Amino acid sequence: MLEVNQVSKTYKKDKVALHNINLQLKPGIIGLLGPNGAGKSTFMRIAATISQPSEGNMTWDGIDISKRPDELRRTLGYLPQDFGVYPHLTPLEFLEYAAALKGIGGRNVIARILELLELLNLQEVRKRPIGSFSGGMRQRIGIAQALLNDPQLLIIDEPTVGLDPEERVRFRSLLTDLSGERVIIFSTHIVSDIEATADQIVMLSKGKLLTQADPEQLLRSIQSKVWSVVIQEQQLPEARAKWTISGTIRREDGLQLRIVSDLQPDAQATQLAPNLEDAYLYVRTTREGA
Ligand code: ADP
Repeated sequence: MLEVNQVSKTYKKDKVALHNINLQLKPGIIGLLGPNGAGKSTFMRIAATISQPSEGNMTWDGIDISKRPDELRRTLGYLPQDFGVYPHLTPLEFLEYAAALKGIGGRNVIARILELLELLNLQEVRKRPIGSFSGGMRQRIGIAQALLNDPQLLIIDEPTVGLDPEERVRFRSLLTDLSGERVIIFSTHIVSDIEATADQIVMLSKGKLLTQADPEQLLRSIQSKVWSVVIQEQQLPEARAKWTISGTIRREDGLQLRIVSDLQPDAQATQLAPNLEDAYLYVRTTREGA
């Protein structure tokens, strides 16, 4: 288990990127959700022992990862956002190189690489230069290198950036295949990335923890707080000023708004079944200023 105890991170010029974060992350898929600049990469870099917290600590199975980083590194897989590949190498060559850098050697290394190429559906292209690959294929190479040591903690920073819709779907099912006894943390600013995959959702904004909950809990928390109101197009600016709107649909009789509100926003408003997008908006509007 990864335990995060009162972690803060301040960069130069007093830029506070994380503020007093407390979390317990157990095996499962954890979606770290927040807008750009929320502190997601900072959090992941600390968890991956690349960076140090300014205050507080993180422990892995009770051991402080800043004091004894090697204990975690042995069982850590990390895919940073700006992961670079060598375009002239083939997947096979690249993974051999990555294994050597990580000090993974011995007879079994080729067997492990072949196993990963199979798992990530790269076996057919294993002898083609990586430079010719799509974003999704490159990302799978990145995940393969992160899995070389069969990690118990897998950290993936913004994995869906640059992927097309089909690759996104494939990535989500890959995450599910990889889960089990591992702690898998991945970050995103897109709610639909976590909707069908995450066991736990951790929301960050402006360096603060907004909530940690499972998807059902989040949906329950906004049960009977999502409303439908139909307005005319010209009323939209006024509606935006008045209500928290999580979606609009154009209909024949006007514009249907999805409104997130504790109270019925309008006498004609009817209730809708909540989704995670509504929950995200609700949590942000109610807790961001706190
Ligand atoms: P996210 O991954 O959610 O987009 P980051 O962790 O990258 O957020 O950034 C959080 C905040 O910290 C942002 O305001 C960003 O500008 C700032 N920041 C990140 N890295 C540095 C750095 N090396 N030096 C100074 N400020 C930084």
